[in-house]
Amino acid sequence: MKREFAVIGLGRFGGSICRELSAEGMEVLAIDSDEDKVNEFKNIASHAVIADSTDEATLKELGIKNIDHVIVAIGDNIQASILTTVILTDLGIGKITVKAQNDYHEKILNKIGADQVVHPERDMGKRIAHNIISSNILDYLELSDDHSIVEVKVGKKMLGKTMIELDIRANYGCNVVAIKRDKEINVSPSADDKLRENDILIVIGSDKDISRFEKHLV
Ligand code: ADP
Repeated sequence: MKREFAVIGLGRFGGSICRELSAEGMEVLAIDSDEDKVNEFKNIASHAVIADSTDEATLKELGIKNIDHVIVAIGDNIQASILTTVILTDLGIGKITVKAQNDYHEKILNKIGADQVVHPERDMGKRIAHNIISSNILDYLELSDDHSIVEVKVGKKMLGKTMIELDIRANYGCNVVAIKRDKEINVSPSADDKLRENDILIVIGSDKDISRFEKHLV
């Protein structure tokens, strides 16, 4: 069954979400107050309309209430982003994802009932910083303010060692939750399994512990 999405704000971020969802065959209602932006998405989204999302009556007319998931991707205009989110929560939309510009914006969005707040520039900055520290750090995902998950390619120091020899939990306080080998994901790595080249570890822990693990082993 096709799910219905609406993307409000068709800048680089919202535009990219709209393109991907449409390419995956999803029904997408694309909304922007800028006519040129809307024209750009006429042949991409299922519907593309010029509208100001801070106008509740307009959103209602567009049938926004029937949409399963609304993504608010308004960039610099924080006031418009907040007001739009308030209207959407009042209307009882099933799921609302909002892009935050900064930490204050994020706090407010969480308070007013956004289901998911994303901070793409900050998160991508963190990922790239960790990848710069070591090219073996493939991905970095923030779980909370002080806990994360990292995806790490087995480096020289880990090669040929078993999980028990490395004892990452005792030495660094983090947990290896899975090992990716070729296309298989082993979610219960055994203690005497020797790590091989190109294995990828999925490690969860506090940022402090992950940082020690990265410095010493990756
Ligand atoms: P990005 O950083 O993702 O490129 P931009 O700030 O360039 O974001 O884009 C945000 C988009 O949101 C713009 O195309 C702008 O026209 C649109 N926008 C801003 N305010 C509103 C509003 N009240 N209603 C609808 N669209 C809006």
